[in-house]
Amino acid sequence: MASTLGTGSRPLRIAIVGAGPSGLYAAGALLQQKEYHVSIDIFDRLPTPYGLVRYGVAPDHQKIKSVTKIYERTLSDARVRYFGNVALGSDISRAEMKAHYDQIIYAVGAQSDRKLEIPGEDLPGSFSATEFVAWYNGHPDFLDYEVDLSAESVVVIGVGNVAMDVTRILAKSIRELETTDIADYALEKLRHSKVKHIHILARRGPVQAKFTNPEIKELGELEIADVIVKPEDLELDAASQAELAADKTAQRNLETLQEFAHRPLSGKPRQIHFHFLRSPVELYGEDRVTGMRMEKNLLVTKEGGYISCEGIGEYEELPAGLVFRAIGYRSVPIPDVPFYDRWGLIPNEKGRVTETHKGEIVPGEYVVGWAKRGPTGVIGTNKPDAVETVYLMLEDVPDLPPVADELARADAIVKLLRSRSVEFFDFGDWQILDQLETGRGAAQGRPRVKFTAVDEMLRLVHPQRTQEESPASVLGS
Ligand code: NAP
Repeated sequence: MASTLGTGSRPLRIAIVGAGPSGLYAAGALLQQKEYHVSIDIFDRLPTPYGLVRYGVAPDHQKIKSVTKIYERTLSDARVRYFGNVALGSDISRAEMKAHYDQIIYAVGAQSDRKLEIPGEDLPGSFSATEFVAWYNGHPDFLDYEVDLSAESVVVIGVGNVAMDVTRILAKSIRELETTDIADYALEKLRHSKVKHIHILARRGPVQAKFTNPEIKELGELEIADVIVKPEDLELDAASQAELAADKTAQRNLETLQEFAHRPLSGKPRQIHFHFLRSPVELYGEDRVTGMRMEKNLLVTKEGGYISCEGIGEYEELPAGLVFRAIGYRSVPIPDVPFYDRWGLIPNEKGRVTETHKGEIVPGEYVVGWAKRGPTGVIGTNKPDAVETVYLMLEDVPDLPPVADELARADAIVKLLRSRSVEFFDFGDWQILDQLETGRGAAQGRPRVKFTAVDEMLRLVHPQRTQEESPASVLGS
């Protein structure tokens, strides 16, 4: 009966799909509330938790990764269980999830990327930053990714923080990278990189750049790369001046860019070149990318004050053997779960899932993070976002039809997964893997050396299933 839902004898059964920041903040908020007893199962399609903190945050930004300490506390709570290596849509269906849980939160992030939709975009040598970032962070889906770093000239399209991350990883020396938790294979590839010139392309002006100040400043502190900014690119039109006056981040960004523009070159072997007011219109080359055609832009103020850009019909060419588009992430649909393709997210009203965009609310299903609001904001932005959704979930409890008691029992889902031979990772399993990784890292003066293949992770942590390799053998004890 609905009246008993959320009590000690019949806690509210909640599934969170996705163990990244948004899912873990949602779990944290549910644990903190005092209204209902909760029992939370967190699923992730990978064995490892922490989503974008592990596979998105740049390996040289370890401080940001320390947020996992908070997530560890959530995952250690007796009311929470972790089920890694369980994919919604293949290992378990949405209907089965709904049958086992009173409420479901989708916290699936944005795994794909936006496209430029220009000729030549699919030529070899043209990549999404999403893939490159996942690759250098050791994401299991990208182990076969082939990136050829033999080109001297590279273009990074976009001026958000992802573009800054990609640029830094390409521009840093091996000495700078080998103290990070970058994937071993990526470190090896970057060791032989021939990249000398990294061209960053911004379709609008410096005031409209999306990067934040620490990220742009970092480019000026690299061991083997100079930054080149043309002073004339920093001359602002009236609309940009007005925008600047109201935006502290843009003011600090501009100061940093001005400092770069007046800094004498120090002769470092790599150079980072900024190009403002340029849009890519074509990537060209016979068998692979050899260059990019771009159009010069002019800023135009739209109704409502948004400063956009328009091409002026003047074109330039930039030779480049490698192009990364860092123009934004995009969620991917989950089988049977509503998806609004136009915006690339799960349709919702403040976190309550809807059947379609602006459609009927789907009782008992919720969404948080990038799958809810789109790929914006830093890790911490997911906290208030999750709290907003959790607040609505609690509000909905009195009207919730509870799932059948026998399926709400904690062992029901375990039985289902076992019946399908799904080899799930629990939190203890992850802690073993975590120790193995940090142990390997300590031996090399690095925060961790990641395991990157799912099979290997499973074999190491569940050695009894293969008897081939044990945690002790990896640590050399
Ligand atoms: P973003 O901040 O939205 O930046 C995307 C960039 O791509 C913008 O400069 C945008 O220009 C440009 N762009 C979009 N479409 C384009 C097109 N067709 N042609 C040329 N340029 C185009 O996205 P992001 O860099 O992927 O970052 C996603 C979120 O993660 C952001 O909130 C970011 O701050 C966050 N993040 C944070 C960190 C960190 O804290 N260190 C690191 C990585 C990511 P317009 O502005 O003109 O649209």
